[in-house]
Amino acid sequence: MHTRFHENTIGQLVRLRKQLHQHAEPSGSEVQTAKLLTEYLEGLNPHTINNGIGGNGVAAVFDSKIEGPCVLFRADMDALPIEEENDFEYRSLSPGVSHKCGHDGHMTILLGFGQWLSHNPPKKGKVILVFQPEEETGQGAEKVLQDAFFNDHKPDFVFALHNLPGYEKNAVILRQGPFAAASKGMIISLKGRSSHAAHPEQGNSPVKMMTKLIEQLLELPLQKDIYQDFALLTIIHARLGEPAFGTNPGRAQVMATLRTYLDKDIEILTNKACQLAESLSGEFELEHKISFTEVFPATINHPDAFALVKEAAVNARLQLIKVEEPFRWSEDFGHFTSRYKGVLFGIGAGKNHPGLHNPDYDFPDEIISSGITMFINIYQQLQTTH
Ligand SMILES: [Zn+2]
Ligand SMILES: [Zn+2]
Repeated sequence: MHTRFHENTIGQLVRLRKQLHQHAEPSGSEVQTAKLLTEYLEGLNPHTINNGIGGNGVAAVFDSKIEGPCVLFRADMDALPIEEENDFEYRSLSPGVSHKCGHDGHMTILLGFGQWLSHNPPKKGKVILVFQPEEETGQGAEKVLQDAFFNDHKPDFVFALHNLPGYEKNAVILRQGPFAAASKGMIISLKGRSSHAAHPEQGNSPVKMMTKLIEQLLELPLQKDIYQDFALLTIIHARLGEPAFGTNPGRAQVMATLRTYLDKDIEILTNKACQLAESLSGEFELEHKISFTEVFPATINHPDAFALVKEAAVNARLQLIKVEEPFRWSEDFGHFTSRYKGVLFGIGAGKNHPGLHNPDYDFPDEIISSGITMFINIYQQLQTTH
């Protein structure tokens, strides 16, 4: 079994990719994008098109109405708050916002797969194409999965891909088990008492605790024996008082990103960081408040789904790269893989391609065909074996 996507339709898909690129919208505002997707999907005659899933999400269902596997494929929809440096004719029309993670390409691949499905509808079971908003902030996947849509649709398998600069174009990058890290943003706010800068003894500045906290937070990942695998903590922002030379500050804030390959380990790291903030604020007699944002679970590739993707790459005669280490970045597809058997895999975007989130990045259209071919091959195996 060896299926390649029909090359004639690629030109049409490239034009569509550029259209999506022009109408880049940030996380949570993917309105125009959803409209473009829906218009295109209507032409593919799926059984149903569901709008407004978990915000601006769109799901198309190709249903055979005969018992069989329920397979979900997902693409992300959002762009980033990054001003585009490129000056090609399809550059982003939205000031300060552009597709710098290639989600325009991921959506195009999924639509291309939808086009194939419209000619090759499932003989049993159903296929769900999910276009998911708000990936970059880590909120979209969870919102989509909470939607009532999933009361009626229980996927047996879930799949998604991400383009990866730094790897040869069209190579399939794969790993069993953890693929992308768990991560979360931690915000620690400290409150003491401000006073005149001439009389610091009358106030309680958080300055000493803040410096101690930063130093000791950075040491937490170094306690290797308490984690099962990789752990990392990066201080990303810190703030003390105001730039007012007459005032001894009363407030401070420290922000850090926590990262691990395993969900268990991020819990351990989180607890350690909370305990540290707790004990230091006791020592310095300060109030403290902790909150979290942009929480991503680890993306874990299931062995059964992994085997399907590996086989698909072989069938499609694409170069297969098995990575030793999971990636340190996070993907909110982890919410899908924590519920259903699934895989997130990479498609090489070119060894010297600008990195994701760089202002000169643009999705390489040459990999659209491989992405579609991978989805087709994964799906065909499920049609014959399950
Ligand atoms: Zn991104
Ligand atoms: Zn992305």
